[in-house]
Amino acid sequence: MKSLIQKMCDDIIPVRHELHQNPATSYEEFYASDLIARKLTEWGIGFERNWAETGIVATIEGRHPSDRAIGLRADIDALDIIEESGQPWSSKISGKMHACGHDGHTSILLGTAKYLQETKNFSGRVHLIFQPAEEGDGGAFRMIEQGLFDRFPMEAVFGLHNWPNLELGKIEFRAGPMWASTDRVTITIRGDGGHAASPHQTIDPIVIGSEIVMALQTIVSRNVDPIDAAVVSVTNFNAGTGAENIIPSQAEILVSVRALKPAVRDVLEQRITEIVTIIATSHRAKADVSYRRLYDPLVNDPEMAEFCAQIARSVVGPNNVNDKCLPWMGAEDFGAFLARKKGCYILLGQKMPDQNSPHNYMLHHPKYDFNDQALPIGIEYFSTLVEKYLEVA
Ligand SMILES: [Zn+2]
Ligand SMILES: [Zn+2]
Repeated sequence: MKSLIQKMCDDIIPVRHELHQNPATSYEEFYASDLIARKLTEWGIGFERNWAETGIVATIEGRHPSDRAIGLRADIDALDIIEESGQPWSSKISGKMHACGHDGHTSILLGTAKYLQETKNFSGRVHLIFQPAEEGDGGAFRMIEQGLFDRFPMEAVFGLHNWPNLELGKIEFRAGPMWASTDRVTITIRGDGGHAASPHQTIDPIVIGSEIVMALQTIVSRNVDPIDAAVVSVTNFNAGTGAENIIPSQAEILVSVRALKPAVRDVLEQRITEIVTIIATSHRAKADVSYRRLYDPLVNDPEMAEFCAQIARSVVGPNNVNDKCLPWMGAEDFGAFLARKKGCYILLGQKMPDQNSPHNYMLHHPKYDFNDQALPIGIEYFSTLVEKYLEVA
């Protein structure tokens, strides 16, 4: 398998570079979608387009017919970043960049498709999910809403992400909650503006907002079990006209809220709403709290995590697999799949010994680039996973 995949990468690396040169963000990934369709057609693989606009689901039948099926997923979208990687295949689209390596994930899934189509050494079928809009616009949820799991029944679903903090050739993940849920809270405080010289005739939304910002800090420290993880980060506080002698009528506060457990998420939502409402009311102001749940926490099924640990060990060696990594409070759209289907999501190392390597910059950095040397590892991991999960009896 290794040598066949290595050889195939001669064809896959140029695809990765072409994807990298032509990035697009949420639901506008037309170039990637066309390229994926072209490659699948070239290799004789059937697929459906227009899932969540630019998404594609391809299906490969194994050598032995069976009702069993699993799904593999890659995200295909890029980010609004001006690229500074200096790579020869840098973005040709100004202000857009594959700074999260989804060009690499797409290429890994394409390489896996090519390998599985050529070898078909499994029973049942595998669905390859090319998902748009991972970076904040809920492409996974949109595909599910459109009936992904009804149209393509599957027992389990698997995904991966490249990880610049982890050495190339290593894999890590954990059973249970691995990445956090993420929610966006918009707080609008409606006071009553006026002259800065007569504050007693106003209801000052800045003073009220400041009290709210400080009070929100007590939720994690005083309402959440210290053993559990939670984040309440105020990231925007907008008020005022630019003039120093006017007290404004309104202030807007944006908060990023994260948790690893659904029960903790519920506590955060309840306490934020209570604190904002009570503080605003006590100052005779009104406050609107718009609490939007964005991504589900990413929770790996323990049994699937154990299975993936075996697969990972067979691909990169037992010493290069850490199946007990620490959770991270970042979020990932793949959590929407794992909230409905069992499965497992892993991190694929890509860090190089040279500290200045573009592969060592963290995701979303303008100097970041996906490491092509991780391609064969990702392809072998996915391919082995399919051959083992859907093993020919
Ligand atoms: Zn990202
Ligand atoms: Zn990403």
